[in-house]
Amino acid sequence: MSAGVLSALALLAALAVSGGLFARRALLLVRLVQMGKPSGIERADAVPDRLRQEATVVLGQRKLFQKLVPGLMHAFIFWGFLALFPTIVIAMIGIVDREATIPWLGEQGWFALLVDVFAVLVLIGIGIALWIRKVVRPSRFEGSHLGEADLILAWITGIVVTLLLWHAARIALSLNEYGAAWSPVANLLSGLFGDGDVTEALERVLVWAHVLLILGFLAYLPRSKHLHIFTAAINVYFGRTRARGRLEPLRFDEDLPEEEMRFGIGTVEDLTWKQMVDSMSCTECGRCQEVCPAWATGKTLSPKLLIMGVRDHLFAEGPLALAARASGEAYDGPLVAASSDLEEMAWDCVTCGACVRECPVNIEHVDHILDLRRHLVMVESRFPGEAEPMLRDVERQSNPWGKPQSERAAWAEGLGVRVLAPGDAVPEVLYWVGCAASFDERARTTAQSTAKLMQAAGVDFAILGPREACNGDPARRMGNEYVFQAYAEQNVATLNEAGVRKIVASCPHCFNTLANEYPDFGGAYEVVHHTEMLAELVREGRLSPAASEQTITYHDSCYLARHNDVLAPPRELAAAVGKPIEMERSGKRTFCCGAGGAHMWMEENARPINEERVREAAATGAETLAVACPFCTVMLDDGVQSTGGSMRVADVATLLAEAIETDG
Ligand code: SF4
Ligand code: SF4
Repeated sequence: MSAGVLSALALLAALAVSGGLFARRALLLVRLVQMGKPSGIERADAVPDRLRQEATVVLGQRKLFQKLVPGLMHAFIFWGFLALFPTIVIAMIGIVDREATIPWLGEQGWFALLVDVFAVLVLIGIGIALWIRKVVRPSRFEGSHLGEADLILAWITGIVVTLLLWHAARIALSLNEYGAAWSPVANLLSGLFGDGDVTEALERVLVWAHVLLILGFLAYLPRSKHLHIFTAAINVYFGRTRARGRLEPLRFDEDLPEEEMRFGIGTVEDLTWKQMVDSMSCTECGRCQEVCPAWATGKTLSPKLLIMGVRDHLFAEGPLALAARASGEAYDGPLVAASSDLEEMAWDCVTCGACVRECPVNIEHVDHILDLRRHLVMVESRFPGEAEPMLRDVERQSNPWGKPQSERAAWAEGLGVRVLAPGDAVPEVLYWVGCAASFDERARTTAQSTAKLMQAAGVDFAILGPREACNGDPARRMGNEYVFQAYAEQNVATLNEAGVRKIVASCPHCFNTLANEYPDFGGAYEVVHHTEMLAELVREGRLSPAASEQTITYHDSCYLARHNDVLAPPRELAAAVGKPIEMERSGKRTFCCGAGGAHMWMEENARPINEERVREAAATGAETLAVACPFCTVMLDDGVQSTGGSMRVADVATLLAEAIETDG
């Protein structure tokens, strides 16, 4: 038997072992994903948007470049992986016949140059990765499998170095199909080799080492955190294309097939297929953890550890659930929330969405967290005790403050605001006040200022008064989907009956719910935030504020800026009345005030988030901390008081109203 045939047989055996190990693991992963429940959201629509995501987030590495140096590191390795891919086939051909290569491509000088360049870039990328991990040691890696990451880096280094040395040996033996000048690095390294039998043997050793390292890598990858190499592109493609602040409604219809019925995440069988792919796609980069306000203030929650916990649970319990199904038995495993502190983590979340925005592979952490809460609340009746009065008040009194509905319009006394009665003519704009601005003393100022400004600009508006009920957001974000849906249906019926077409909302949580979530319940309105409407009125000259010398730093609400892209209008207003100064974390990278996800009514079990934000605002030296959300008003004002600060916290509407009054 010739050496070529023997080599081919040996290669086939290696391929069979590696491919078999890979296929075995891949089959398990596919079966797990097939077991997943429907994600409830359309994930195959909007193909152009999905392809754009694929092009920018995956190929262009857009989200990784949010951090330049780590972004370059990853891009060098990832792009190198793509560019060097054909060399795997070339090396396998070279094992069987060292005189042969891939037709055409293997004979191109420019391709040889490309290989050299990208091989070096990969090595530079690995050098940067080592520098980040061993020298910089960012805290975002806390809890990640760093030993495994080091092993992967060593493995990739081995693959690239053996490739370069193999090419160098081929040049030394004059086996290269193109001029050696096309491979400057390999050509340089060829000086290490002679041209005799030893080099011939080394050339064989190197090509085999290169191919075996690749085949070993292939078998190991799906068992490691680097599984994301296969799943990340899939996860990005099937990511959300609709509003970021929208939660998918649970369906409670009786005619729903049992396998599609969901009450959030109970056991592993309740995970949706997308949640499974999410967990398989986590790279453990910790970018989500770094921006998480809960983690930053010492809580148990880390979005990274949460996703890793879901993945660990899936890999531990998923095969058992599959086995139970195969034998026709019911699976009766533990709750996902019962593992890895997941229950405690779920309650720490303020649903700010910073993690989702930062994640380079578009993992949807908030959906996992809300689904954990939904099951705990609706099936297990387990939730933090201090949230109980809020849930009770929302359910019985239509507002989380527990105040009588008859007092809902008390803030407007003496202002001459029209309260829309059934059968009244529909106004141009319905002002949706929200519970906070209706009942909280400090937040009421926002409603009063907004009403005065609309009156001053001649806007035809009215409020629903006692017919406005809680939009249901606090109950929904706590996990009580039943209560939310009851309010959604009630409010949509009221609004539709009144013939409302345009709504202005003061509260970003109301704004998000009305604009993004009520369409699921038959409520389709043009919804604007009060800062958008007021900025337009100023632009049109219908409001003419007098600018002052006061320095203002504007705090972006998560539900306004990050979830709904409203960034410029509140800034326009701040600039119209004073001298704006930006905080370090602003715009879409804002830091939560601590109230979201129903945390307005929950105790914090570590350092307060609002104090952290107030300290950042104070560091700007601004006199006024401007907000555009009644929850932020209350939380940040509390933060100023508890930190002994002196900043004034005021809604931009209030600042604008004062500037109009100043102007007479
Ligand atoms: S939504 Fe905000 S609080 Fe919740 S895990 Fe993500 S970053 Fe943390
Ligand atoms: S969830 Fe996303 S951002 Fe967080 S560690 Fe995993 S890959 Fe990184």
